[in-house]
Amino acid sequence: MSFLTLRERLSPNFDARPAGEPIDMIVLHYTGMQTGAAALDRLCDPAARVSSHYVVEEDGTVWRLVPEAARAWHAGVSYWRGRRELNANSVGIEIVNPGHEWGYRDFPVMQLAAVCDLCLEILSRHPIPARNVVAHSDIAPTRKQDPGEKFDWEGLARNGVGIWPDAPDRGTRGALREAAPLHPVRAALGALGYEVAPEGAMDAALATVLRAFQRHFRPDSVSGEADEGTLSRLEALLRLVV
Ligand SMILES: [Zn+2]
Repeated sequence: MSFLTLRERLSPNFDARPAGEPIDMIVLHYTGMQTGAAALDRLCDPAARVSSHYVVEEDGTVWRLVPEAARAWHAGVSYWRGRRELNANSVGIEIVNPGHEWGYRDFPVMQLAAVCDLCLEILSRHPIPARNVVAHSDIAPTRKQDPGEKFDWEGLARNGVGIWPDAPDRGTRGALREAAPLHPVRAALGALGYEVAPEGAMDAALATVLRAFQRHFRPDSVSGEADEGTLSRLEALLRLVV
């Protein structure tokens, strides 16, 4: 049973999905604007040429802007698991929050609950693998930080949306290594789905992808460094998906 309050405000900013393209991803964003009303206006402004399928307000109200069957314009230049231009096959959800630029703040419980319910409904309609519920920062790490490290990915996963590394942070690296030998960090990030620069590229590029990984899976330490806790979580996630 869903407690979603769904309201409609149709955006003109969409077109047709490519024929035969399955809907098999959910991309979560924050709006990154000072108010939810300003974000709604922009996402419905034909001149802005951006949109999402849904917007979730801080009080949990959900706006539907674009039908799921159509392609909304939220992901931009993007990559996940070998594919690009992910507007074609994803459902985009904008979560109201001022973001890092305007005063990044905690997501209220009512808002998180609405995001969770909305995702569960979307998952019931489309064959979306758990590992394909991603952040905008996962699919565009050099450009985007949203929805960021304050978003409760762990809580979402506990309610059946997305994946989360279950293994404890410390003390089990040896056992983990035996069960799943540690991939080199680049290969591990690539196996999860991230676009990783080849060996020999700038270390800064790898650090950028590591920060995206940490915003999603190690939000207490967004350092860009492959520290012990980050490696443990990478290993635990690989065991879930590889
Ligand atoms: Zn975004």
